[in-house]
Formats: sequence, C-alpha cells, structure tokens
Amino acid sequence: MLIKENVSLKMLNTFGVDVTSKYFVEAFSMDEIKEIISLPVFQKSNKLILGGGSNLLFTKNFDGLVLKNSLKGIEIINEDADSYYIKAAAGEIWHEFVMHCVNKNYAGLENLSLIPGCVGASPMQNIGAYGVEIKDRFFELEAIDVETGTVQKFNNQQCEFGYRESVFKKKLKNKFIIISVTFKLNKIPKFNISYGAIEKELEVMGVQNLSIQSISKAVCNIRSSKLPNPAEIGNAGSFFKNPEITKQQFEKLNIQFPEIVAYNLENGNMKLAAGWLIEKCGWKGKSFGDAGVHKNQALVLVNYANATGSEIFELSEKIIDSVKNVFGVELEREVNIF
Ligand code: FAD
Ligand code: NAP
Repeated sequence: MLIKENVSLKMLNTFGVDVTSKYFVEAFSMDEIKEIISLPVFQKSNKLILGGGSNLLFTKNFDGLVLKNSLKGIEIINEDADSYYIKAAAGEIWHEFVMHCVNKNYAGLENLSLIPGCVGASPMQNIGAYGVEIKDRFFELEAIDVETGTVQKFNNQQCEFGYRESVFKKKLKNKFIIISVTFKLNKIPKFNISYGAIEKELEVMGVQNLSIQSISKAVCNIRSSKLPNPAEIGNAGSFFKNPEITKQQFEKLNIQFPEIVAYNLENGNMKLAAGWLIEKCGWKGKSFGDAGVHKNQALVLVNYANATGSEIFELSEKIIDSVKNVFGVELEREVNIF
C-alpha cells in the first residue's frame, strides 16, 4: 500500500477536470482501509473517499488525501421464501453489479441499469432512475468510522434516505467509509415500467413477454440514446435536483406557464422537472469556452475538453440565478462540490 503525492485526478472524475490531490491511496481490502485510517497523514488531512468520480466536481486541487475505495466481491448472504440478500463490496462497479443480478434473475435493480459509479456511493444520494430508488431495495450497509476505525451497520431507517439524499450527505458527512451494501432482491419480479419512456422502448424492441432482462435492456437503450457518455463528453449526470414546491406555489406558476412539467409527490407537494426550467430559461446547448449545457438534456452540464471546475461551477451559478429570476424557484446542486 503506497501513499502517493501530487496525483492527477483527471482520469478519476467523469467531468475530466484536470486537478491534483496532495495525497492519494487506493485500498483493496478492509485491512488496508484500517491501516490507512491509523496513519497520521489520514487523521490530519482533509479526506475524500472516491468511487467512480461520477457525482463530483473539483473546483480546485484537492488539498488532502483521496482514498479510492476498490474493495471487490459479491455474495448471497441469505435467502428466504421471497428474497435473496446480496452483499456487494463498495468498489464493485454499479452497472456490473446490476448486470450480475439481472443475469441471475435477482429482481429489483433492473431500472437502475447503466448508472455510472461504484456500489459504495449508491447509498450516498440514494441513487434513483425510472421510478426506482435504492432505498426500495436496500437491506443494510457496513461502514467504517473514520475516527475510530470501527465497523458499524446501518439499516434502511438509519440511512435516512430521501430524494437524492441520505444521512451520509448530511449529519454524517465525511464521517464514514462505506465498505459494503446489501440489497434485498425479489425471487418473483415486480415489474415497474410506469416511466413512459420504458414502455415505449419495450414496444420498439418488440418485447412480448416482460422480463427483468428486457427492462434492463430498454433502460440501457434509452440512457445510451439520451445521455452524454462521460468517456466522450465530460459530465456528472444531472447537475441539479428536481425542485419540490407546494401545490399553491405550483398553481400560481401553472397560470403563468401552462406547459410547465411537474409531477405529484406522495406528500402532496409537486416535483418540477429542473431540466424543463433550465431549458425554458434558454440554457440548453449554450457553452462558455469548454463549459456548457448539454444540447439534448439541459440538466446535464458538460466539459467539452479543457473546462476548469470553477468555470463549470460559475455556469451553474448563472443557471441558478436565472431560474430563480424567471420562476422564483431555487435549484439545488445534486453534484458534490470539492
Ligand atoms: P463518486 O463520484 O466517486 O462520489 C460521490 C460522493 O460519494 C462523494 O462525496 C464521495 O466522497 C462519496 N463516496 C463515494 N464512495 C464512498 C464510500 N465508499 N464511502 C463513503 N463515501 C463515498 N445518479 C442517479 O442517482 N441516478 C442516475 O440515473 C444517474 N445517472 C447518471 C448518468 C451519468 C452519465 C452520470 C455521469 C452520472 C449519473 N448519476 C446518476 C450520478 C452518479 O453516477 C451516482 O451518484 C453514483 O452513485 C456516483 O457513484 P461514484 O462511485 O462515481 O461516486
Ligand atoms: P425523463 O424521463 O426525460 O424525465 C424528466 C424528469 O421528469 C425526470 O427528472 C423525472 O424525475 C421526471 N419524471 C419523468 N417521468 C416521471 C413519472 N412517471 N413520475 C415521476 N417523475 C417523472 O428524464 P431523463 O433525464 O431521461 O432521466 C431518466 C431517469 O434517469 C430519471 O429517473 C432520472 O432521474 C434518471 N437520471 C438521473 C441522473 C442523475 O445524475 N441523477 C442522470 C440521468 C438520468 P426523477 O429524476 O425524479 O426520476
């Protein structure tokens, strides 16, 4: 195990921003993580636990220690009449893990196919897509306390999952390293194709008998056709969350903007499609140097080549200001800023 100094992070963040880390170390086992935690350089430095780097933006060089979590392994740890309990190590690639489950007929994660990143980051923001969030399939996780080095288990309630949120982004921010996540997956699938795009794609694919494999394929097809591939254009997916407003606020906006895109939430509030708000303000396809707003999906900010993180951040500030001016709605960033 080697702690390197002044390491480039350009290939380790999907925005492709060219920054360095003062210290960098990659851990492949629990023992290595425990050893790193015990080192004075770890205890004294700012820390960043890194997965696939697909949900963060570096606005400057990282003046601390980056710990890349590369723990591997997938195992069934239990089963009952209805479910399999599958434990995956934090460093497993999320999409490869989903494919493993889909191929073995462990049902429940198929709508979350092709999301970049690692298993360990999935509870951080309760990743979600096409009507499914991991909280719906989550059983428990194990995490190491960065101060004491002790391992703790968190159940669903203790993770305090919300829309693109968890306790690890709030009061336990930077306090734990997630080392494994266990999912409770169904033996008999409960298909969820309520997101319009999936049904349409299944039709195009000519699917007669629904399966988790066909849903996964449909999701992959839609995502590949709509979203920029970070290997080609730097991005971190949706840069902003979809804002939640009250019914009364919505009714006022709806008079002024009858075509506004919004969805009912269970708590009685409304969720606005942030992409629509940004597009309506004229940002779609705009660029400033190499920092831009994607031409097909206004929610995705992109780095065409050599944009700096602060240029992308400044663009996000301008977008927040203009959406606030036009709609009176405050956008919140989903991407973690460093
Ligand atoms: P990183 O970017 O490496 O880290 C994200 C945060 O988690 C950081 O704060 C980091 O410190 C922390 N972290 C990472 N690993 C650990 C760990 N083991 N322990 C403690 N903290 C940790 N997200 C969705 O929810 N739904 C989508 O549909 C979706 N689509 C996307 C599409 C594209 C093209 C892209 C680029 C991104 C998309 N995202 C989506 C965002 C992103 O893929 C997810 O948030 C993903 O879970 C991030 O994983 P990561 O390993 O890359 O995390
Ligand atoms: P889309 O299907 O064009 O939908 C646009 C927005 O409307 C989405 O943000 C989605 O909210 C909402 N929406 C659509 N149908 C809905 C329904 N039936 N009920 C409730 N809300 C609905 O979006 P897209 O950009 O192509 O993305 C597809 C899915 O992948 C979405 O779930 C999106 O969240 C996810 N995704 C996430 C990221 C990320 O980085 N976080 C990046 C790409 C895609 P929700 O976002 O709440 O689902």
